[in-house]
Amino acid sequence: MALASAVAEQGTDRLRALGIVALNGMFDEMDAEGVLREAVTDLLPGRMAMVSSFGADSAVLLHLVSLVDPDLPVYFIDTGKHFAQTLDYVETLKARLGLSSVRAVRPDAGDLARFDPDGTLWQSDPDSCCHIRKTEPLEKLLEGFGGWVTGRKRFQTSERGVLPHFELTADDRIKVNPLAHFSHDDIEAYKQRHGLPEHPLYNDGYKSIGCAPCTSAVGEGEDFRAGRWRGRKKSECGIHFDFNGSIAKPVSQSQLTLFKDGRFLADPWRDRAEGEAPDETRYAHVTLSDFLADRAAFLASPHPIGLRIEPGDRVEDIGADVERFASIAINFPAFTDGRGYSSARLLRERMGFTGELRAVGDILTDQIPFLRRCGIDAMVVNNAPTRAALEKGALAEVSRYYQPVGARREIPVGTRPFLRRPEDVRAESLSPHSTLT
Ligand code: SF4
Repeated sequence: MALASAVAEQGTDRLRALGIVALNGMFDEMDAEGVLREAVTDLLPGRMAMVSSFGADSAVLLHLVSLVDPDLPVYFIDTGKHFAQTLDYVETLKARLGLSSVRAVRPDAGDLARFDPDGTLWQSDPDSCCHIRKTEPLEKLLEGFGGWVTGRKRFQTSERGVLPHFELTADDRIKVNPLAHFSHDDIEAYKQRHGLPEHPLYNDGYKSIGCAPCTSAVGEGEDFRAGRWRGRKKSECGIHFDFNGSIAKPVSQSQLTLFKDGRFLADPWRDRAEGEAPDETRYAHVTLSDFLADRAAFLASPHPIGLRIEPGDRVEDIGADVERFASIAINFPAFTDGRGYSSARLLRERMGFTGELRAVGDILTDQIPFLRRCGIDAMVVNNAPTRAALEKGALAEVSRYYQPVGARREIPVGTRPFLRRPEDVRAESLSPHSTLT
């Protein structure tokens, strides 16, 4: 397949350019083995991994992996809360299918000690428990891969009813779901046809199997996943959520509004909803006043949170908590309001903030060099001319500044010492192909 070979050469950027919808069209007619083979050998060779729960249906996809590439890295997220039978089943399937690269991924010991010292977080806050035991370890391991293979199927829940074979996630990875179109009967037939061993708990009514404290058997006529987090408003563990908490969807180019690292990306962050509980807030920017009002609760939450700074906010009030934030968004509501620049400089130069510092609001092209100069390394762009300029790399170049900043090397020019120019103006220019730092 010539197109797929071209994709392989150019990685996920090429996939994005092709469009995930087109990609799904290309593979629509293919069976599960064909989808998996193309993904592993043609689309992202050497850059794919599989993540398996070694649960009730896992043997089917693992069997397909054994046919396509038995050396494909297969990761089992060992939360420390699995049934002993699941741990046995890992060994059974490894041996039966000849999989050479099955590896366990474990939660960070520091996170466990800090957030779940007595191992009961699943009871009081299952979202956070899943976050530190599953999502965080998975995100770390995926840093080394361009995509991953999952065993999700459309029939499993209503949220998964439209599951495509290929998804593009907000962090620019490809998720491949070779079994998306499988029905429950297809799974059963496949297991029988190939004599695959059942999970030891399957015949006791465990039709979907996760961690022991959060899994129960299902009764006749119940949804197969009804035994997961039974009685709670939770149906997914989080590893299949996109960063902002919704099921990953294909993203069109126009929806990519975050400009960072020289290109437009899907924005994993959102503004925190009014009244949202601090322990439910994740990948959201919290206003300074909300943070200060509920500081202890936000600090205790294991989720990544951001901060939103409005003109007139005193950023110094965050103090030593500044490194709690993975992203700080500074609002620039009007071109003439320069207070955001001061906030940015305070954060970078005086408070030593090293995380993402983004500009939000009505960002105009002419502001960009000034934003960058104050340490802003990302921006949400909704203004069409600004977007077009960034896409073309056609940005205004500013060679004279009226106020010095501490973080950049500048040379006073002319007779007025406060009028400065960057040490190398050319190096300051920004294009979509250079890094915004
Ligand atoms: S499934 Fe339950 S025990 Fe497992 S990580 Fe999630 S909340 Fe914790």
